[in-house]
Amino acid sequence: MAPDTAIGDELLTRLRRFHEHTFPGIEAQYRDLVADGQHPHTLFIGCSDSRVVPYLLTGASPGELFMVRNVGAFVPPHDGSAGLHGTTAAIEYAVLALGVSRIIVCGHSHCGAIRALYFGGPAGALNLQAWLELGREAVLPVQPTPEALRRTEQRAVVLQLERLMSFPMVRAATEAGTLTLHGWHFVLEAGEVHVFDVDTGRFVPASLATHSGSGPYQPAPVDEAPPPASAAQLGV
Ligand SMILES: [Zn+2]
Repeated sequence: MAPDTAIGDELLTRLRRFHEHTFPGIEAQYRDLVADGQHPHTLFIGCSDSRVVPYLLTGASPGELFMVRNVGAFVPPHDGSAGLHGTTAAIEYAVLALGVSRIIVCGHSHCGAIRALYFGGPAGALNLQAWLELGREAVLPVQPTPEALRRTEQRAVVLQLERLMSFPMVRAATEAGTLTLHGWHFVLEAGEVHVFDVDTGRFVPASLATHSGSGPYQPAPVDEAPPPASAAQLGV
């Protein structure tokens, strides 16, 4: 089969356009980012879905978002094993080296990862199959209606926030008040992010929200720390 030169040429055109037309407008910014290094304030953990475009959503400039994206915007447990864990490595770097003050977990509507939890994934994708299990706990014992899928997508975001708290450096920073966790669900067709409110256990449209998401961390009582609330307890 002949290579698709049409796509290659289009990408080359876009690269040249960036260099000639876009870069001059942000060259000074990049010069500073090279001289001073990067100091992103936020770790953005997002689904790999091509329709989720973090810079469009947040209006962020270069240097603001440290990003890790994977299928489903999932966070593996920090179980003490050292291996080829790309997402875990990125979280460790963001918190321990960059000192980010926020972590956003951003799921979205019509997520293929969440659909695959109900309908299965492509044959032969053994790693994908294992990876998707990180969202299994969010699955509801109901027919996968559009509403059920939506709720599962949101529950999966909360599940990942909870799992972030299994990272010792995340727990320490949130308890010290230097790091906040934010759960987002981007509704593609509405062009609106719904943010998770840990106090009510609900996702609130950004247009109505009073903050950009919270949770799951709640200061624990001094004598006895209760287990973190699960997605089911939070009613999402
Ligand atoms: Zn997705």
